[in-house]
Amino acid sequence: MSDKKDATKVVTGGRRPEWTQGIVNPPVWRASTIVYDSIAEMRARNAADTHHKLYYGRRGTPTQWSLADALTELEPGAEATLLYPSGVAAVTTALLAVLSPGDELLVPDSAYEPTRGFSNGMLKRMGITTRFYDPMAGAGIAAYCTDRTRAIFLESPGSLTFEVQDIPAIVAVAKARGITTLLDNTWATPLLLPAIAMGVDYSILACTKYIVGHSDVMLGSVTAAEGQYARLRAATYQLGQIASPDDAWLGSRGLRTMALRLKEQGATALRIAQWLKARPEVARVLHPALPDCPGHALFVRDFKGSSGLFSFVLNGGDDAARTALIDGLEHFAIGYSWGGYESLAIPADPERIRTETPWRAEGPLVRLQIGLEDPDDLIADLEAGLARFTAARG
Ligand SMILES: *Cc1c(COP(=O)(O)O)cnc(C)c1O
Repeated sequence: MSDKKDATKVVTGGRRPEWTQGIVNPPVWRASTIVYDSIAEMRARNAADTHHKLYYGRRGTPTQWSLADALTELEPGAEATLLYPSGVAAVTTALLAVLSPGDELLVPDSAYEPTRGFSNGMLKRMGITTRFYDPMAGAGIAAYCTDRTRAIFLESPGSLTFEVQDIPAIVAVAKARGITTLLDNTWATPLLLPAIAMGVDYSILACTKYIVGHSDVMLGSVTAAEGQYARLRAATYQLGQIASPDDAWLGSRGLRTMALRLKEQGATALRIAQWLKARPEVARVLHPALPDCPGHALFVRDFKGSSGLFSFVLNGGDDAARTALIDGLEHFAIGYSWGGYESLAIPADPERIRTETPWRAEGPLVRLQIGLEDPDDLIADLEAGLARFTAARG
C-alpha cells in the first residue's frame, strides 16, 4: 500500500488509468448487460468474486470500483469496500452479513435512530436479539456480552448526543470473545478516525454526508478489514445491493474536496460551539472537542480532528421556545441529513429514543450542521435566535 498522506489520497484514489482512459475524473460507466467475446470467456468469470471484473451491471463498473477503492485506501488495514444506495442500506447489509437467527447484537443507546429501528424491527423478526448498551461502557461492554453475542455495533460520537466511545477497549473485549465489531464512522470519516487500523472489522459510512458533500445524492459504503470481506460480499450479492454509477460518480467528485471541506467546516463548527458555550441561554454544548463532552479524553486520544455536526442543550425553555429560535433562522435551513456545504438546524428529543441510558437535560436540544458560510454570519444568526428563544420563554 501507498504511504501517501490522506489529503493526497482523496485526490488520487481510484484513478486507475484503465478506468479513467486518461480523463482526470473517472467517467460514468453505466451498464446492465456486459457482453463477452465467447462462451469460454463468459464461463471463465467467477460469479462468486467479481471484484474489479465486469460481469453484470449489478456487480458494478469501474465508476463504483473507483470510489470503493479510494475509500479502501483511506482505511489502512482494509481489504475492500462495497457501495450501497444509502447509508441505512450499508448499515443493514453489514448487520445481515454477520448475524444469524439466535444471535445477540449489542447497539449503543446513542445510535442513529434507523439503526435502532432495523434492530428492533427486521432483526427481531429474524430471531436476532438486540441489547442496547451505555455508549460510555468501554471495557464494561463485557457485562453486556453473553455466549450468543455475535456482533457489537459502535457509533462514535453518538447521533444527537455525541458521546465518544472507547473503541480500542470495546474492540479488545470483542476480539477476546470472537465477536465482530462494526462502526458507523459517518461523523469522523476515515480522515479523522481510521477505524480499521483501530481493530474494527467493518467501517460504515453514510457517504450521503461528507463524501458526497453537496446534499444531492444518497450513498453508503462498508469497508471491511483484512479477512472480513468475503461474508460482506456474499450478503451484498445475495441482497442485490448496488449503488448506481451516476451516484458513485458524484460521490467520487465530492471526495476530491472532502479534506478541505472537513477542515473548514470543523473549524467553523468548533468556533460556534465555543461561542454557544459562553452564552447564558445555553446549558451545555455537546461537541467532542469541548472538555465537558462525555468521552472528550477519548476524542483527544483517538481522533485527528472534529467535523461540522454538534448539538447544544438550551437552558430551560420548552418546545415552543426552541421553535422560535429555529424557525426564524436565516442562514440555517431546517432539514434532515448533514455533511453538505450548507448549514442546517433541527430540534431533536433523545429522551423519546433512549432505553438503556435515559436522557436528562436542562432544556430542549438543537442539532446544528455547520456549512461553508461565513462564521460571523452564522453566529449573528444564532445570536438573534437566542434572543427569540429568551423572548418566547418569557
Ligand atoms: C444519515 C446517517 C446514516 C444513514 O445515511 P442515509 O444515507 O441517510 O441512509 C447512518 N448513520 C448516521 C450516523 C447518519 O447520520
